Amino acid sequence: MSDIRDEVFAAFTSLYGHEPNGLWSAPGRVNLIGEHTDYNEGFVLPFAINLRTVLALGTRDDRMIRVSSAFADEVVEIALDGLSPNQLSGWSAYPLGVVWALGQFGADLAAVPGVDIYLESTVPVGAGLSSSAAIESAVALALNDAWQLGFDRPTLAKVGQLAENKVVGAPTGIMDQSASLLGKRDAAVFLDCQSLESQIIDLGFAEAGLELLIIDTGVSHDHATGGYAARRASCEAGAAAFGVPSLRHLSVDDLPRAREILDDETFRRVRHVITENQRVLDTVRVLRESGPSAIGDLLDASHRSMRDDFEISVPELDLAVETAQANGAIGARMTGGGFGGAAIALIRSDDVSRLQVAIDGAFAEHGFGQPVSFVVNASDGAIRE
Ligand code: ADP
Ligand code: MG
Repeated sequence: MSDIRDEVFAAFTSLYGHEPNGLWSAPGRVNLIGEHTDYNEGFVLPFAINLRTVLALGTRDDRMIRVSSAFADEVVEIALDGLSPNQLSGWSAYPLGVVWALGQFGADLAAVPGVDIYLESTVPVGAGLSSSAAIESAVALALNDAWQLGFDRPTLAKVGQLAENKVVGAPTGIMDQSASLLGKRDAAVFLDCQSLESQIIDLGFAEAGLELLIIDTGVSHDHATGGYAARRASCEAGAAAFGVPSLRHLSVDDLPRAREILDDETFRRVRHVITENQRVLDTVRVLRESGPSAIGDLLDASHRSMRDDFEISVPELDLAVETAQANGAIGARMTGGGFGGAAIALIRSDDVSRLQVAIDGAFAEHGFGQPVSFVVNASDGAIRE
């Protein structure tokens, strides 16, 4: 199998008729625990995975930007002068949104040369593994290097988030881009979404004989519309009722009062966020004190909270989680924004293939489309190749 980097280099060269300045790559991510806590200024614990967007970038003599992808049969061309978010739509809003967002963070877009970009990705789209952040982070790092902008990685994460929020129109938090830019091999990124401070936490899956299995249900989600925005609104309403800027300022001690002053639905939304923040803190502590074999109950509790309180699971995700739990998983939960996408199961290496067979069988029995399951490893974040 030819290396994706060779493919990207060759495709760039034949498409644009010149060689790139270099290759950059950035990974997708999986969230181990801490769901819908990022935009509430809470805690998350994602890790970068061994599936990546690889891109080639070459500077031009003029002020044009051209982007293309193995994914789409077109070259999208746009002028750097007068670049504005409402010109951008479709898949190219991700890479081109990053160009615009760099300008918003102070990059002098009037002083930089145009670029050609070609990208290819092994991150499945819409599976909750953030193929979007992989693109944003790869483009942000590549332009930061090529244009010598000097932004640090936490700032590049904010650039990617701004592109996704204001150009793509998806009201997502800072987690995905942070994991993609800050991730380290065999470790997770413990991120405080209020201070934006991060710590690298060793996972130790391999030493414990464990694997993390992703079960992509194939049910696609849509962050930009629907349930995601409604959940954010409930969280804001809950914080406003307490007169605090975000749910981060509340703890499990505030739950009795929350039940008194909030309607039942808002209360359950708030309870999910508050207890999920606590579960992230507990997971970090347990990983340090006892290792990964001891975090299963926290993963299971996280899933129940998303299913019953936050109501962002779907039958396919519940089935994946229940089947994993019944087939030897140490813990399992849906991961990502919800309403589809993937579940994760932490499981002994020897039990992985048995679980995959069980999941395929359970989905067939329920008349659901066949899921795709695969093991991921915690990997390094964005790099210049
Ligand atoms: P995810 O959970 O995978 O991040 P999103 O809906 O946030 O799902 O982002 C998926 C979108 O990102 C796709 O619809 C497409 O517009 C863009 N995208 C993902 N991968 C690629 C790719 N290889 N090339 C071009 N665009 C891509
Ligand atoms: Mg996304």
